[in-house]
Amino acid sequence: MPASKRDHTVLFTPGPTEVAPDILREMGRPIIGHRGIEMQDLIRDLVPRLRALFGTRAYDVFLTACSATGLWEAALRNCVTRRVLVPVCGAFSERFYEVAVACGLEADPLHVEWGKAVRAQAVADLLATGRYDAIALVHNETSTGVVNPLPEIAEAVRRQSDVLLLVDAVSSLGGIPVEVDRNDIDVCLASVQKCLALPPGFSVCAVSPRALERSARRVGKGYYFDFIRLKSCFDRSTPMATPSVSHMFALRAQMKRIETEGLDARYARHRAMADLTRAWAAGRLGLFAEERARSNTVTCVANTRGIDVARFVAGLVARGFGISNGYGRLKEATFRVGHMGDHTVEEIRDLLAAMDEVLKEMAA
Ligand SMILES: *Cc1c(COP(=O)(O)O)cnc(C)c1O
Repeated sequence: MPASKRDHTVLFTPGPTEVAPDILREMGRPIIGHRGIEMQDLIRDLVPRLRALFGTRAYDVFLTACSATGLWEAALRNCVTRRVLVPVCGAFSERFYEVAVACGLEADPLHVEWGKAVRAQAVADLLATGRYDAIALVHNETSTGVVNPLPEIAEAVRRQSDVLLLVDAVSSLGGIPVEVDRNDIDVCLASVQKCLALPPGFSVCAVSPRALERSARRVGKGYYFDFIRLKSCFDRSTPMATPSVSHMFALRAQMKRIETEGLDARYARHRAMADLTRAWAAGRLGLFAEERARSNTVTCVANTRGIDVARFVAGLVARGFGISNGYGRLKEATFRVGHMGDHTVEEIRDLLAAMDEVLKEMAA
């Protein structure tokens, strides 16, 4: 169905993104008790599916009733005992750093010009000082449309024996390969309202044995997000506290949909949607992210013609399409199109055509 014919604004925002009607219906299933066999079966069903999505054979997978910000705290509080390095290349990585500080941890930002990717060499040089026992990396920086070179950075991290790699894959998991085992990631976390196209308020993470060892020695890490406590529950396929049962139903249905499409096909679809969006932007305005690091899940369009972005966004809403103004200090200087989740190339074509109409209308 064309987006403009729907009864609501169809979200092409880089989180939350549009949720399919059948997935929304899963949220309305009757609630089950969380200490019974049905819940155990649900967790036993979900965990192997999520392992495949993360690209890990054997890591523990935890499901939590919070957005990804909660898992930022979890990763940092379980895994940092000495000092954490946080590459900051946009608003989300900046906030990851702020969360480390708010958790009372010793943390250093590695500032990178917004629109540019984090360089593996810069990470390697800082880690070589021996000051750090963890690095907190945002894989896909949703505010600038930059995807960081995860494999190269992961390799730099692995040259240091004692440094845990904590990866925010919030706007990449399910849209861009993350490959937890291959990249030797210690904590990989994501909320579900981005490339997984689920209603917001739920998160997933994969945790390595090394991260669990670190957590076992770590004191003052709180209760709700203690990886050791979570593991002891998930080992028995039971949730630690009352879980978001409705999200788990929706996630089960969505994982089946993702498996039916196939991960490679899903990544290719995201690439195709990104290519179209980038071509549109390059021909009319500009691209904020440097060429070698442009994300396949979100495009940050540089407002090189000084258009009134708020008006542009409102013009699209009037046609049934939701996109986002620039994030934080990039507001009006950029705007963002989320081509993530279950959107199709056809839907992106419709959106881009509507974007042309609104631009024309504004020029008139
Ligand atoms: C959206 C986003 C977040 C914040 O996640 P919440 O689920 O809102 O807590 C963190 N990191 C990145 C890269 C994001 O895109």
